[in-house]
Amino acid sequence: MRHIKYRAQIAPTPLRRFRRAVLKFYRTEGRDLPWRRTRDPYAILVSEILLHQTTVASVEPVYEAFMAQFPTVEALASAELDTVKAITDPLGYKIRGMWLWTIARRVRTAHGGRMPRTLAALMDLPGVGRYTAGAVMSFAYGRRAGVLDTNVSRVLGRFFQVPADGTAERQHQLWALAEAVVPVRQVWQFNQGVMDFGALCCRARQPQCSRCPLVRHCPAAEGRAPRAAEGASSSVWFWDA
Ligand code: SF4
Repeated sequence: MRHIKYRAQIAPTPLRRFRRAVLKFYRTEGRDLPWRRTRDPYAILVSEILLHQTTVASVEPVYEAFMAQFPTVEALASAELDTVKAITDPLGYKIRGMWLWTIARRVRTAHGGRMPRTLAALMDLPGVGRYTAGAVMSFAYGRRAGVLDTNVSRVLGRFFQVPADGTAERQHQLWALAEAVVPVRQVWQFNQGVMDFGALCCRARQPQCSRCPLVRHCPAAEGRAPRAAEGASSSVWFWDA
């Protein structure tokens, strides 16, 4: 999704609660993952492409092997495609090896070997959509960009009451929310935290509402009638970008 259709404004109290809960969750329960120990935009892009439709547990050893063999964008651009695919193909979704190799060559020829530093330039790279570009912007450069994966969509949809009607319109609204919730400071921690919060606490099946820091205020908490949460309403306004 490249086109930004909406902006969102969230009422101050639910926004403050949400940010505080996510940051605290990351401080106490955030996962230590290999790609979180670097701010190298190339390494972060590699990890995000490997994570497409693939579990963290499967990606971890492949990421380590990939970065050991191709530690820089130049090393990857100089490699043979077959060598790259030999590492990435066993993960499935085999287009990824081609994407990574083509990205490295594009970065070398079009960007002088330096990773792009804008959302638009990143999204011009093959296989890089808005989520991946946002991840690089926030995790490598600390820029205030939203990330919206499946986990984040679920969290935002539940807490801010975006009806799950499966429409493209909903996806536009979720993107607007994903950008609006990012704080000015601690962007890296917040975006990592909201993904972990969705993966570990606000899970698709059996959400852990009883231990969730948002339970008193969440309209979607288990056993709660809609709008019965203490002080909670959707409190979100969308307008055309
Ligand atoms: S209370 Fe439950 S549904 Fe609401 S954010 Fe927490 S885990 Fe998700």
